[in-house]
Amino acid sequence: MSTDYTIHEAHRLLKEKQISSVELTNHYLDRIKNVEPKTKAFTTITGELALEQAKTADGAIAKGDIQPLTGVPIAIKDVVCTKGVRTTCSSKMLENFVPPYDAMVMEKLNAAGVVMLGKANMDEFAMGSSTENSAFFTTHNPWDLDRVPGGSSGGSAVAVAAGEAICSLGSDTGGSIRQPAGFCSVVGMKPTYGRVSRYGLIAFASSLDQIGPLTQDVTDCALLLNAISGHDERDSTSVPRPVPDYTRSLKPDLKGMKLGIPKEYFVEGMQKGVAEAIQTAIKKLQELGAVVEEVSLPHTPYALAVYYIIAPSEASANLSRYDGVKYGYSYKDGTMWENIEKTRENGFGPEVKRRIMLGTYALSAGFYDAWYLKAQKVRTIILREFDAVFEKYDALVTPTSPTVPFKIGERTDDPLAMYLSDICTLPINIAGVPGVSIPAGFVDGLPVGMQIIGKHFAEETILRVAYAYEQATDWHKQKPEIS
Ligand code: GLN
Repeated sequence: MSTDYTIHEAHRLLKEKQISSVELTNHYLDRIKNVEPKTKAFTTITGELALEQAKTADGAIAKGDIQPLTGVPIAIKDVVCTKGVRTTCSSKMLENFVPPYDAMVMEKLNAAGVVMLGKANMDEFAMGSSTENSAFFTTHNPWDLDRVPGGSSGGSAVAVAAGEAICSLGSDTGGSIRQPAGFCSVVGMKPTYGRVSRYGLIAFASSLDQIGPLTQDVTDCALLLNAISGHDERDSTSVPRPVPDYTRSLKPDLKGMKLGIPKEYFVEGMQKGVAEAIQTAIKKLQELGAVVEEVSLPHTPYALAVYYIIAPSEASANLSRYDGVKYGYSYKDGTMWENIEKTRENGFGPEVKRRIMLGTYALSAGFYDAWYLKAQKVRTIILREFDAVFEKYDALVTPTSPTVPFKIGERTDDPLAMYLSDICTLPINIAGVPGVSIPAGFVDGLPVGMQIIGKHFAEETILRVAYAYEQATDWHKQKPEIS
């Protein structure tokens, strides 16, 4: 059996009864057993539950009741609440937290008949770009085990890239789906803000967070997006807008499409090999029929500063709930105030503390106008800039990251260098528009991702561009050899 089945291939085999979901699930559990000591993609492996779900799926399939995801093994980022299954956010604070309810995306996936293999490692509370901020362990990039997989959804990206799961879910606040997708050579999409319910997604920065798919190809991305999208009364920011069948937009050419290449995304310090790979990819898009022009989004350089005011501000408010009283880790040996203090001191890692301090400062009386309010104003300018460009262009094309995956440990002492990893992905969250990263080549054996950005709710457009490019190349078919 192969470990490279896509969702649509597995679906066909299940439907034709060439394999059962139990066989498929056992196969992936074996693969996890073999490679997990090297990749460390999972915080929790739910083998028993997976086999139970696989049996249920096989029962349904036997009755002819099969949906595109029925019986398909998936990994879920450990920031998504799973009823009865430990959900840690890769934090000591939630090390033993077992949610009493499912996130909306899990309700939908369970109804679709998926098989959950386990929970994927991440940077603590999704703060980071390398999974090195996990309180438990770092995940390793299967293309080079000495390098980071990206983050914060590093475990989700590695599970898919290393053949430990057919697909996975991640979350993206400033690039956490797309950047690891780029670093691991898989497809990763951050949908439009409001497309997917955040109910049951443990909050980092609520005005930026979105859940999205990580898959082996663009067709799978469309299939998984079909399954998780839609309005949810329990998330007031989810948008009541019909969900199209995203697979319908997948066409092999780009005739009549106009693509913009924002020059500000080819930043100083970008690796030459990455810029060249993207230039080559852009030529391919032209060959496929797209009209390509350089565009300018002049406020792009401010996105990083805006993000590192807004995201920590929201995080400082969201994380105040971890006080040792309601749930999660609790220090109990002191007075009330000592307990609250010690709970946070012991429960949070250094990056989370840094964000809480930054956010508390930006929101404090006297500084609020100068920092938070100003950042919100610049956010609006960035948003309008995107709106204006999308009046003329169907989509924008950029690198996903300025570099290929870096070495483990290389940036841990330099938060600013780490923050720069997301320079090409942050503006997209600030504007709330959708973006997808797809495999676009290799530099010295290390993956390069290309990002395609669309206007609000134009997932179909960016999937179409991604699909046409994928059909004309075979980067997505190359798989790492884990030594
Ligand atoms: N790396 C960015 C950060 O640390 C983005 C993280 C994310 O998208 N969750 O905040």
